[in-house]
Amino acid sequence: MSVPIGITLGLDPEGRRYQLGRLYVEAVHRAGGLPVLLPPLPPTEAIAALRLVRGLLLSGGGDLDPHYFGEEPLPYTRRIDPSRDAFELALAGLALKRSIPLLGICRGMQVLNVAAGGTLYQDLTLGSSRPLKHYQEAPDWYASHWVEIRPDSRLSHILGGVTRIRTNSFHHQAVCRLAPGLRAVAWTSDGVVEAVEAEGKTLALGVQFHPEAMVHQDPLFLRLFLALVQAAGGIEP
Ligand code: MN
Repeated sequence: MSVPIGITLGLDPEGRRYQLGRLYVEAVHRAGGLPVLLPPLPPTEAIAALRLVRGLLLSGGGDLDPHYFGEEPLPYTRRIDPSRDAFELALAGLALKRSIPLLGICRGMQVLNVAAGGTLYQDLTLGSSRPLKHYQEAPDWYASHWVEIRPDSRLSHILGGVTRIRTNSFHHQAVCRLAPGLRAVAWTSDGVVEAVEAEGKTLALGVQFHPEAMVHQDPLFLRLFLALVQAAGGIEP
């Protein structure tokens, strides 16, 4: 039986339609999950939403409002989606509190870090003197930079012991101060954090790249979704 996995949605720039890349849904389904799409709702609905699922995927999207990590917006900050910010931060905080397995992708990794009390660079040029190109101008499946992975990390374990991968990259914000209870487990050569994970037993993993766009190219990336579904399957409803 498929394991229900919540996947968060965003709003289009006009605020008229929900949006989510089809590849998130496909990757979760391919890994044995039943995708349950969660549109932005008032944060008080987070409890009810998480009752429907056994794992949570925080999808990619635009910038988080720097207000949530105690900063005023700098000109680097782009379009924000207030309802999405509020709902996803509530979902992530609750998932951490209730030990619901969680995978954060790109923006989702940033939401995980901020929900747990960390901060972001509003633009990664603020944290790195000679940054790599992290917003690639190439197809989404294309791997454009190397990522070094801590050998003793859960991420490396999930990837079968791999400690160096090439990934795609579509971000301009980056993790700055790590939240308590999270550790950085992967970096590019310019020092940008490319993955974080919780120290506890429950899976709470964030990756800055987009594995959902690479699963067809390299089955290694499906392992992240398999890990989420497997961790979610281990929880009693
Ligand atoms: Mn990157």
